Amino acid sequence: MLTVHPVAAFKDNYIWVIHDRNAAIVIDPGAALPVIEYLRSKQLQLIAILITHHHHDHTGGVTGLLQFSGVPVYGPHSKNISAITHSVLENDEVAFPELSLTLTVIEVPGHTLDHIAYYAHQPFDMLFCGDTLFACGCGRIFEGTAEQMYRSLQELSQLPDDTLIYCAHEYTLSNIKFARVVDPENDTLEAFEITTQNQRDQNIPTVPTKLGNEKSMNPFLRCENREIIASVQSHCGCLQPDPLSIFTALRNWKNNF
Ligand SMILES: [Zn+2]
Repeated sequence: MLTVHPVAAFKDNYIWVIHDRNAAIVIDPGAALPVIEYLRSKQLQLIAILITHHHHDHTGGVTGLLQFSGVPVYGPHSKNISAITHSVLENDEVAFPELSLTLTVIEVPGHTLDHIAYYAHQPFDMLFCGDTLFACGCGRIFEGTAEQMYRSLQELSQLPDDTLIYCAHEYTLSNIKFARVVDPENDTLEAFEITTQNQRDQNIPTVPTKLGNEKSMNPFLRCENREIIASVQSHCGCLQPDPLSIFTALRNWKNNF
């Protein structure tokens, strides 16, 4: 039985640890100490580190973890991450027989140019997407173009609806506040805000989120929806109604929200 556990770090990061009763892999360790504490508390052997992109809050703990345990480090082809021992490309498979787990690499440029995500179909559909897709939101576009980010999100949205989305930050509540302004008539979103507020009041993580739910709530995955198009057009002025133009305007709107 696999457990996927969020180790909280910094203000709102989640470092995901996938493990059984013996072995663990860690994804995007921005800090080493809280991961080491968790591994020790569960008596787990670290077998690998996976990186989605070069930002320091996702990689800053790699050196410390390697001192704790010398393991392979998987990540994108990127001159910005020196610790990577196994660089991976689109469709590469990263297999961990110890956990009966195989992750497939999906390249998702946009937030950064080197950004990748890891997807597993078994034992259940799970996606580790770093700062690309968030519950009710998406990552900021720092290095890529809006078109790259849009295509990346479109690719992720092709995964099965049951896919659990393990985002790297607790941004859900603030994302919902924006989504509610864009999409005020969305009842699913309204109900989700109440659930999310209750979880946050008890300091419970609001992720993973489910892809099928995101498709009915996340405005960045709904740029072909008539209400979203009308809302973006009325806020941003006259715009082409094609999904990429809507996505681009929506992302700019959120940047200034
Ligand atoms: Zn980032």
